[in-house]
Amino acid sequence: MVLERQRAPLVERELPVPEPGPGQVRVRVSTCAVCRTDLHVADGDLPRPKLPLVLGHEIVGVVDEVGQGATRFATGDRVGVPWLGWTCGECEFCRAGRENLCPRARFTGYDRDGGFAEYAVADARFCFPLPPAFDDRHAAPLLCAGLIGYRTYRMAGDARRLGFYGFGAAAHLVAQVAAAEGRNVFAFTRPGDRETQAFARSLGAVWAGGSDETPPEPLDAALVFAPVGALVPVALRAVAPGGSVVCAGIHMSDIPAFPYAALWGERVVRSVANLTRRDGEEFFALASRVPIRVGTRPYPLAEANRALDDLRAGRGKGAAVLVVLALRA
Ligand SMILES: [Zn+2]
Ligand SMILES: [Zn+2]
Repeated sequence: MVLERQRAPLVERELPVPEPGPGQVRVRVSTCAVCRTDLHVADGDLPRPKLPLVLGHEIVGVVDEVGQGATRFATGDRVGVPWLGWTCGECEFCRAGRENLCPRARFTGYDRDGGFAEYAVADARFCFPLPPAFDDRHAAPLLCAGLIGYRTYRMAGDARRLGFYGFGAAAHLVAQVAAAEGRNVFAFTRPGDRETQAFARSLGAVWAGGSDETPPEPLDAALVFAPVGALVPVALRAVAPGGSVVCAGIHMSDIPAFPYAALWGERVVRSVANLTRRDGEEFFALASRVPIRVGTRPYPLAEANRALDDLRAGRGKGAAVLVVLALRA
């Protein structure tokens, strides 16, 4: 399924099977989860995708051809391909273990073709082996919702009372990690979305309500997963002095002006950008230990547009996953 221009539906195309270059592997795609970032690319919120483009950066599949020197994986290995597709390895960020900030980074499903397709090629150094406890459908959302969600969670430090604004694919995974680590999870959904509030409680939230509601006690940190800038001052007012508000998304609507008093008291607002390979290694080890329950909504690959529409409208719980191969060979 191909994005030929932004703000237009994906179109079904027959593409040549890609050949892996040096250091790359070719992956026969089994599943690919759908992320809000895919929506931002399709809708034109992110300005410079390669076009035409195959979206999708939460790819699970099996290596079916190995490029020259890509010795990390062999044919037949199951791998996951994440958003971070390549970094320079030389800049000050890369050398300091902050490759997520590399200015020359290349991203899967943005700068290079992704996984809304039968095949994808990826730099082997940026692929992950996946924990066997998760089958292909349930492993796919871990690759972005899970691990960028995890990076967001870590930015909250040792916060005991942790708010989640927006309870979609990322929040539903990370809330389970937080609950398993003894944090008190407060889930904020669209006002009146009782179904998602019940879902949050079933995953360990001690309180769930609308984003227009005040939590029963002040929070130590709030993670904002919804791409809604107006939630930033709302979340700031819900955190205690010294608390932080962490914005997880790659794009957000403008943050409205708010009085300095809402930030006063050493409150912090920060964003999270991309992922490092180390985030992935840590998160996958943790995901098996918790173990995380992954809520998925499967769609056939040909219905990628419906999956994007449902995500745009906030329909359904958990993570949307495109199922490319009905059965694993
Ligand atoms: Zn770099
Ligand atoms: Zn993503």
